[in-house]
Amino acid sequence: MKYDGTMRFEELTSPDVAALDRDATVLVLPLGSVEQHGHHMPLGTDTLLSHAVSLRAAERSAGKVLVLPPPWYGFSAHHMAFAGSITLRAETLMAMVEDIVGSVVHHGFRRIVIVNGHGGNGPAIDLLAATLGHRHHGAARIAALTYFQLARDAIAALRQSRPGGMGHACEFETSMIQHLRPELVHSGLAQTTYPDPGSRYLTTDLLGGSAVRTYHDFQDLSDSGTLGDPSLATPEQGAAFFDAVTQALTAFIDDFRGWTPPGRTR
Ligand SMILES: [Zn+2]
Repeated sequence: MKYDGTMRFEELTSPDVAALDRDATVLVLPLGSVEQHGHHMPLGTDTLLSHAVSLRAAERSAGKVLVLPPPWYGFSAHHMAFAGSITLRAETLMAMVEDIVGSVVHHGFRRIVIVNGHGGNGPAIDLLAATLGHRHHGAARIAALTYFQLARDAIAALRQSRPGGMGHACEFETSMIQHLRPELVHSGLAQTTYPDPGSRYLTTDLLGGSAVRTYHDFQDLSDSGTLGDPSLATPEQGAAFFDAVTQALTAFIDDFRGWTPPGRTR
């Protein structure tokens, strides 16, 4: 079933929202960042991507999905050595998301998914899923995910780069922007960096999944700010990644729609 109208929350009127089946509608809040993406990619890469992925997943979903307008900024302290990076304090990011989710729960929405597109937001969204889930228990179900982790198996099967080739402004992100907004990619300026994080317990790879948490300041890992291999990026690869991540997100949303309704614990 194709959604019969806009998927963009900001394009609805207040009466449109009041008339929605707010129990059946899944609301998606994309998150990202405004931060350096090497010498060849735009500052807004992460938010551009999470928004585009969310809109396409909403379109592919079997049911009604609305995508909230994303707040542009995220937690980017580790990028501040590079010009143009803007960071919220972690507590500001959390307070902002708490207020947005609190508002839509106030208006009766009961199924909310936070779709994150920036690794640096990961710890905050983990905590938000727990704290907001507790706060709105009985009123709404809230899930949070990072979309490229949701699709990690599919991305791993498509990637050309060896471990370390996907991290930041890398094969993955560059291909995705080449597919969606090619005019924003300056491929001739791209620089490849396979960073050495200094220990077998650490990884910078997008799919790396180390159990250890520590602070990586990007200026210590890369002169250009890039982690990984953008030279392997192509628009065709971007189309394949985009299809894989939107399919994974659609599958999640359609499953989430069937989770135990809020207020019923079993
Ligand atoms: Zn990024």
